[in-house]
Amino acid sequence: MIRQGTAGVFAVDRRLYLPEHLAPTLTAVIDTEEEFDWSAPFNPAATSTENILYQPLAQAIFDRHGVVPTYVIDYPVAASEKARAVLAGFVASGRCEVGAHLHPWVNPPAGEPIDAFHSYPGNLDPALERSKLSALTDCIAEGFGQRPIIYKAGRYGVGPATGRTLAGLGYRIDTSVVPYADFSAHSGPVFTGLPAGPFMTVEGILVLPLSVHFAGRLAGLGPRLYPRLSSRWGRFLHLPGAAARLRLIERIRLSPEGHELGDMKRLTRAALLQGERFFMLTYHSSSLLPGAAPYVRTAAEREHFLGMLDRYISFFLCECDGRTAPLSAVAATLLGSAATDPSGVESRRLEPG
Ligand SMILES: [Zn+2]
Repeated sequence: MIRQGTAGVFAVDRRLYLPEHLAPTLTAVIDTEEEFDWSAPFNPAATSTENILYQPLAQAIFDRHGVVPTYVIDYPVAASEKARAVLAGFVASGRCEVGAHLHPWVNPPAGEPIDAFHSYPGNLDPALERSKLSALTDCIAEGFGQRPIIYKAGRYGVGPATGRTLAGLGYRIDTSVVPYADFSAHSGPVFTGLPAGPFMTVEGILVLPLSVHFAGRLAGLGPRLYPRLSSRWGRFLHLPGAAARLRLIERIRLSPEGHELGDMKRLTRAALLQGERFFMLTYHSSSLLPGAAPYVRTAAEREHFLGMLDRYISFFLCECDGRTAPLSAVAATLLGSAATDPSGVESRRLEPG
């Protein structure tokens, strides 16, 4: 049973499911943002977006497989003519969708303290969260000629006012929820208790969570067992790591960041067995500039990263007999109408090349 609302984040209205007759569906969401030192304090002056110049490397893979990814774009990217030019090329040819991604520390208007707590947009004063998102929305609308309706909070940081703010600014879809995650130790959001699949909030925002699933011999017990393993005592006793090493229960996020292809396949097979039909692949744009993010440090590691992306999509489409669809088309299917598909992009099933 779904708990009606979880303190601090979205209040659930109802869970939504893709129709049984549809093949498992893959989407991709890329956090499209500046390079920043993930281990250093937040720096409002760090706004270089050189990594965007390398996005065509991954887009070529998406194109080959018929995947229409969503680039959720943050302010430094939307404000950079050079970065925009790369992405606008994808948009103009209908090869991607764009959404908004809010990193408060580099998004006007400034004014909040620059620290970890305020790096989560949902921790800001609601008026400031709205002002920042409004500025970002306008910047994207101006740069790309379309108002975004898809949102992803920086650091997954949705808060108690986010649903209302999104609805007020015309957003329809949120992609910030990380199922089973509890970021409260770092002042971030708590997602435990929320559904691991698509749901509608009381404000009418369709939430499409990241794909986080359990693999291992006890995968089916994951949603109930994992919160206990990962409790303060469980972590003290290193239970999550031990359970993963013994292949009893592993929590895996569908991303080539910090995971190998085998992990992504294991997650997918386990989730399919448990009846999941919606899959969201994610990564950060900065992973394509060696050294800009923790997961890719050399050109060789970037090749490996791109190879994993390519082989995973092939695996999903061929071995899992899956299909791929843009986020807006998935939303339209879930809601039973084409009303949320402003791009007119149809869901598609293409033979992988
Ligand atoms: Zn981000």
